[in-house]
Amino acid sequence: MPNMSLKKVAMPLQDGEVRRNNFDEVALGYTKEMAMEEAERCLNCKHSPCISGCPVAVNIPAFINEVKQGNFEAAYKIIRETSSLPAVCGRVCPQESQCEKHCVRGVKGEAVGIGRLERFVADWARENLNEYNQCTVSNHHKVAVIGGGPAGLTCAGDLAKKGYEVTVYEALHVAGGVLVYGIPEFRLPKSIVNYEIEGLKQVGVKIETNMVIGKILTIDELFEAGYEAIFIGSGAGLPNFMNIPGENLKGVYSANEFLTRVNLMKAYQPDSETPIQHARRCVVVGGGNVAMDAARCAKRLGVENVTIVYRRSMEELPARREEVEHAQEEGIEFQLLCNPVRVHSDEYGNVSGVECIRMELGDADSSGRRRPVEIKDSNFIIEADCMIMAIGTSPNPLLRSTTEHLEANKRGCLIVDEDSMTTRENVYAGGDAVTGAATVILAMGAGKKAAEAIDNKIKGNA
Ligand code: FAD
Ligand code: SF4
Repeated sequence: MPNMSLKKVAMPLQDGEVRRNNFDEVALGYTKEMAMEEAERCLNCKHSPCISGCPVAVNIPAFINEVKQGNFEAAYKIIRETSSLPAVCGRVCPQESQCEKHCVRGVKGEAVGIGRLERFVADWARENLNEYNQCTVSNHHKVAVIGGGPAGLTCAGDLAKKGYEVTVYEALHVAGGVLVYGIPEFRLPKSIVNYEIEGLKQVGVKIETNMVIGKILTIDELFEAGYEAIFIGSGAGLPNFMNIPGENLKGVYSANEFLTRVNLMKAYQPDSETPIQHARRCVVVGGGNVAMDAARCAKRLGVENVTIVYRRSMEELPARREEVEHAQEEGIEFQLLCNPVRVHSDEYGNVSGVECIRMELGDADSSGRRRPVEIKDSNFIIEADCMIMAIGTSPNPLLRSTTEHLEANKRGCLIVDEDSMTTRENVYAGGDAVTGAATVILAMGAGKKAAEAIDNKIKGNA
């Protein structure tokens, strides 16, 4: 008999009061017993609607069925057939808008906790299996990957498993992309990302860090060095700003800079060489996951008042519900339906306040969401000595500007054909560099698709 509880088995969490003072992981993960109990909620539906919601088509009912019986290794093997970063996806994928959105148990009650089960299985495998020793025989074809985020790493891993000699060129001093510089430790411990990267190295992927392609080497020079194909997975790391007065004052950060200082450079540790301003009141502008991450990091750095300013209402707020609830539990305040119009400074040029204007929702815009409209003369000031802009990012134009015939659309995203090839022959692309800021699983799916296309092209099948 399936477990007909309408609710998921609860995820154990660090207490809100405690965790706002540390960077340890918030969600603690299921025990074996909890995982098996949650797995019993799955009805093993014939048509598996959940699979249609997964961008990499993990065989969800099959892996959950193994979890039910305590066969965690078998469950892991099923997930690994299609997903190369399950411990990451189990933690950060927006399952509520993907696989779990399609789960029949969600019609009456909560969907099966597919993400929680995926996380459990991946963590179990990391602790209990030694899976990394399957180095493949080289086929002597060389492929270069630009960018060591989820798109690039997935493409590199898939090609290496097919025998390609793959080198990943990463601009930063470590690989991982947003997984290491953006998503905070308390949502995604870096040890998990490092484990996955170590696994890729063991299947033969070479990783060259501190290599900004377009500056140190060009795409043409990579071809001259003997690479037959190049995959661009350079992400969308260029922060957007509002262009309002005062945005260049001391104390205004882009979320990317702030999060990089905190997460990658460990600015919160007393012995870190990376400076970060110790603020008392911080305003974070934006309503996505990036805004939640920045606000929750600020809180953990000791900022007394952290306020998220978002121009629409809670209903339209794009961040994952779970992240919003966690932020609220940690004491983050929300100023909704308002928008910054000016940043004020003290006599030393430091931020002293953020002037906002109230908004109301008008008719739906092209995105289908109701358009925020300013309410005249409703300005007010939020006292603040720090402001973090989390209003989106775009792809960096460096590669485009240093490579002939590499075309992008008006948003700066690279144009690719159905085989993931850009407008430059044998140069492929995927992930945020093509879609603009999106999700980890979509970037991984794009890396996978491109690896398949590169393999077909080099073997002359395409
Ligand atoms: P990236 O992860 O951006 O990796 C690109 C890599 O390329 C970087 O390492 C960069 O240094 C490198 N690079 C760039 N230019 C060059 C160059 N010229 N030469 C060499 N290397 C270069 N998604 C989710 O699914 N769930 C979440 O909870 C979530 N939270 C997020 C939180 C934050 C703070 C941010 C910023 C994003 C979040 N996302 C989340 C989005 C997700 O992380 C991205 O969609 C995903 O990482 C995109 O992968 P990518 O490989 O295309 O690019
Ligand atoms: Fe299980 Fe839900 Fe998928 Fe049905 S839709 S197989 S209940 S996870």
